[in-house]
Amino acid sequence: MLRVGKVVADLSEENQKELVLEGGRGGKGNTHFATSTRQAPRFSQDGEKGLEKELILELKLLADVGLVGFPNVGKSTFLSRVTSAKPKIADYHFTTIIPNLGVVKSIYGDSFVIADIPGIIEGASTGVGLGIQFLRHIERTRLLLHVIDVSGLEGRNPVEDFKTINDELKTYSEKLATRKQIIVANKTDVMQDEDLYKQLEELASKKDMEIYKISAATGEGVDELMNRVTQVLKELPKEELVEVEERIVYTLDEEKDEFSVTKEGNDFIVEGPAAERLMGRINIGDNESMHYFQKSIRELGIEERLKQLGIKEGDTVKFLEWEFEWYD
Ligand code: GDP
Ligand code: MG
Repeated sequence: MLRVGKVVADLSEENQKELVLEGGRGGKGNTHFATSTRQAPRFSQDGEKGLEKELILELKLLADVGLVGFPNVGKSTFLSRVTSAKPKIADYHFTTIIPNLGVVKSIYGDSFVIADIPGIIEGASTGVGLGIQFLRHIERTRLLLHVIDVSGLEGRNPVEDFKTINDELKTYSEKLATRKQIIVANKTDVMQDEDLYKQLEELASKKDMEIYKISAATGEGVDELMNRVTQVLKELPKEELVEVEERIVYTLDEEKDEFSVTKEGNDFIVEGPAAERLMGRINIGDNESMHYFQKSIRELGIEERLKQLGIKEGDTVKFLEWEFEWYD
């Protein structure tokens, strides 16, 4: 489903165009071959087949900020508070089954896009449950807000949750795991035990990470956090976050010169893409076309190879499904 083969191109700019597959050469009508000595040529070239490749097109959300965290910790509530997005909010796990995007308006400075993806659960990176399909959506965010429920209402342990989610991110992508993260301690309005928050705060300071205390429900602490997010985004470079390992253009030319000549008794067998390409372009039975054929087998080095193998007058050359008799 994901990461099959190589990334051949990355389209992230408006109107960006990338060539990944060359089309076949178009056929040439005979006027193309008209020369002063060949005023009325009968020779035309057939067009040739193009290449076929199966490519997977992967759609990724382009957001600046990604929300990560367990289901039900308040990500959607947070998104709906800071943007005009209307994500589904409900008191059960996996309330978000599709990623939501929200644009944060300028009250916090420049506008930017936040993506709320379905809660990551343990094992998401290995394909367990929902989540894995959505992790890729946060691959190119520049900043992650790690939302953690510190209320203790659902018996969650914030420190454990923090570690579990980060392990998941790491399993999915080392790069994602090292992305800048701000810890968002949520549901402080219903905090049962300050200790849980304190433990998380300690961990944050150990890891040299910023932590913000908020209530997505009441809005407390949200402005402070969003001002910081705006500032951080200004500082973070808009780097290329998806690596194109190798920009690949599949061309017909790369196969152009491939042919093989083998000898079987007095028969010489010519095969390979170059032979196929050549035969795809000539009209057997047309004189001028056959001149072109002879010129081509010389240029491609097929003739030389035949001679090296000791071809002599009267021998048969099997060129794909055609047979020719050799004259010196
Ligand atoms: P998500 O799964 O992380 O997107 O979580 P939701 O935003 O859907 O919220 C899950 C539940 O927690 C909902 O019932 C919300 O109303 C509730 N909730 C979210 N944030 C807060 C908060 O700050 N305080 C309280 N008391 N409840 C919250
Ligand atoms: Mg949600």
